[in-house]
Amino acid sequence: MTDAAPIDLYSLTPDAWTSMFTEWGEPTYRSEQVRKWVYERGVTSFSEMTNLPKALRMRLESETTLGTLRLSTERESNDGTVKRLWRLSDGQLVESVLMPYQDGRRTACISSQAGCAMGCVFCATGQMGFARHLSAGEIFQQAAVFAAELRERNERLSNVVLMGMGEPFHNYDAVLVAIRRMMAELGIGARHITVSTVGLVPQIKQFAKEGLQVKLAISLHAATDKARGALIPVNKKWPIAELIAACREYVDATGRRVSFEWALIAGQTDTDSEAHVLGRLLRGLRCHVNLIPLNPTGGFDGMPSEVPQAASFVHILESHGVPATVRVRRGIDIEAGCGQLKSDVIKKQRQAAPETSAPID
Ligand code: SAH
Ligand code: SF4
Repeated sequence: MTDAAPIDLYSLTPDAWTSMFTEWGEPTYRSEQVRKWVYERGVTSFSEMTNLPKALRMRLESETTLGTLRLSTERESNDGTVKRLWRLSDGQLVESVLMPYQDGRRTACISSQAGCAMGCVFCATGQMGFARHLSAGEIFQQAAVFAAELRERNERLSNVVLMGMGEPFHNYDAVLVAIRRMMAELGIGARHITVSTVGLVPQIKQFAKEGLQVKLAISLHAATDKARGALIPVNKKWPIAELIAACREYVDATGRRVSFEWALIAGQTDTDSEAHVLGRLLRGLRCHVNLIPLNPTGGFDGMPSEVPQAASFVHILESHGVPATVRVRRGIDIEAGCGQLKSDVIKKQRQAAPETSAPID
């Protein structure tokens, strides 16, 4: 028994994992047995590791922990989307979502921070403010748990998107470690991992030089500095011209196209004239525009666009040679939009026990 903080097994790289068991005097096959329980079976307690000697189980129990994320709430949508709210060791809450697709893809959407410092006005996470960065292990564990559960059902986690709570490039180093681990340890190809950023230009430039084939998505949402600055405060620091120049560097360095995310807000970002401005801005850039009808949130009074206006927007972009798709909103019945489950759970907790509930952050 030791007084040291328990070692989080999910934070250990394969080398560190093997070394720990070697230092404990355990043979390699034991270390592999434990690895299988964690990464292939997704067990949540050491007592389930039935092929281990009791002494080893007890040592694991007292000196290590099976990740630091504990399930707080889970909801499953009519379309099969599963949304989880995780409680971190310090009580912070973060969300992950698993989306099954008809063609067999299984996509995990994971968080990189508790809250977000960027303050985009339409975003439930932005409305909460920033609590802290997640560690690489906390980011990795969200994907690893889904991967293990799917493997149990003879399915495979095929894609990961960093589009949950937080701004991945504000937590750049931990995100890059987690991405490299997902590739090496979960077997997810770089081309099947997407990082979405609000547009932190220095990190976009750095990312372009990493030599990775990871997909880059940029949350654009408006095509003039005036309109974008009103929605996305960081636009004042890195305006559109600098952002698009950084995207060109990424396309040139990686040979990959860049995706632009665009929330369709009725009467604001979905007008024909806005579509023409966007079309002229992106003309000639290897890119794709993902149009997402706004998910209404408590702190912003915009509404999603109607279908005919979304179709008109696509048509105008295509007339400029810019490919665009309207994305179906997944899990809309379970608050699967970024930050929305946490907001909803906290709202309900407050309604149930207004005088005792904790502050959001
Ligand atoms: N911080 C990163 C990634 C997380 S947000 C980023 O901003 O890119 C994932 C995506 O959801 C972003 O494109 C974000 O702009 C978008 N988003 C946030 N709130 C939304 C809402 N209420 N409706 C539609 N899209 C939203
Ligand atoms: Fe943060 Fe992204 Fe939400 Fe903006 S949209 S507040 S960057 S999570």
